[in-house]
Amino acid sequence: MRPYPHLLLMLALSFVLLDISVSDSGPISHPTIRFSVKEIFPKIKEWFKASGIGQVFKTLWADLTRQQAPITRGTKLDGLGKIKVFLDLLGYVNPVLGLIDDVFDVAFELAVKSYQTTYSLNSTGALDFDTLQHMSYPRCGVADIVNNKTTINTVDPNHWWIEGKTEFTYGFLPNTSMLNGIADDDIRALIKDAFSKWSNITMLNFTESKYNVSDIVIVFTELDGKGAVVGGSDGNSTVHFGYFYVDKEEQWVLPGENKTEEAIDLESVVIHQIGHLLGLEHSTAEDSVMYPSILPSNESKLNFADNDIERIQKLYPRPSSPPSPAPAPASQGHSSPTTASGGVGLGCRGLVTVLSIGFAFVVLFY
Ligand SMILES: [Zn+2]
Repeated sequence: MRPYPHLLLMLALSFVLLDISVSDSGPISHPTIRFSVKEIFPKIKEWFKASGIGQVFKTLWADLTRQQAPITRGTKLDGLGKIKVFLDLLGYVNPVLGLIDDVFDVAFELAVKSYQTTYSLNSTGALDFDTLQHMSYPRCGVADIVNNKTTINTVDPNHWWIEGKTEFTYGFLPNTSMLNGIADDDIRALIKDAFSKWSNITMLNFTESKYNVSDIVIVFTELDGKGAVVGGSDGNSTVHFGYFYVDKEEQWVLPGENKTEEAIDLESVVIHQIGHLLGLEHSTAEDSVMYPSILPSNESKLNFADNDIERIQKLYPRPSSPPSPAPAPASQGHSSPTTASGGVGLGCRGLVTVLSIGFAFVVLFY
C-alpha cells in the first residue's frame, strides 16, 4: 500500500506548523522593553497628557458650586482643555471637530452629551453637577468609544495573543518599589489571587515569570496625577503581549484594609484590568467588575457579577462534560493538526503526538 500524495503534503505542512507551535510555546522576548515606558506602552504615554486632571475636577466643582448653574457652550474656563483631553482619550471627542483649548465649543458639548448618554445621565451637553461628579470618580483609562463606536457591554474580538493559547505568563516591569507603602510581596500575592479568580471561571492559567519573557507585563507608573485615571491596559497583537498599568500616584489599599475617602482598592482594579486583557470591554452594570468607574457605593469589587461570568464564558466556553481520560484512537492518517473549538488550542505535546502517529502511518504503509 502506498501513501496518497496529499498525505505527504499534509505531513510536510505539519512540520511547518510544529515549528510555529514550538516557537509560540517558548519564551517571547520583548527586546523593545529596554526603551522607556513611554515608548513601549503608548496608552501610558497618552495619559501623561491629562496630567493634573484630578485637580481640574476639584476646581471646576468649586466653580459650579459658586455659580450654581451648569457650565455651557461659549464659556471659557481654565482647565476645560484638560477635560477635553480626558474625554478625547476615552473616545468621546470627534477627532474632526474642536480644539484642545479652554473654550466650551460644539465638539465639547457633543462629547459631554455622549458621555451623559453612556452613563444614563441627563443628556443636556452641559457640564452640570451630576456629570462632573461622575467624570471625577476614579476610573479606568481604557476608552469607552473606539473609532466613534461604543465598546461598552461588548467583548473585543481582536486578541493580542495567539488564538488557542491557554497558558499565560505575567511579569513585573522592574521598579524601585511597586507602590509606596505596600510591600512588593503583598502586591505579588494580591495579583496572583486576582489572576486565580479569572482562572476559576475560564480554562486559562497564569504563572508569574520574568517580565521580558512574559505574555503580560505589569507596570507601576506615574500617570495623570492623583485622582481620575487609576489604571488601564492594552494589548499588542504584533508581538503578542498585553500589559496593564497601575497609577503609582494614587493612595492604594489592600482588600480588607481600612480605607480613607480617596484610597483605591488595588485588587478590584487589578481584576478589572485582567478582564480587559482577556477580551472584556466595559460594562454599564454597576455591580460588574468591568464597570469603568469606582462608584462610592461600590468601591470594592472582588466577586464577579452574573454579567461578568456570562460574557467571559462566551469568550471561553467551558466544556459541557469532563474530557475523556482514554487516549485518542489511532489516526487513519488523514487528520491534520487543527485548533480545537471553544478557544482551546492544541498544545505542542498534542501536536507532536498527532505528527508521530502520522509519521508512523507513512513508515508502515509506504
Ligand atoms: Zn476598564
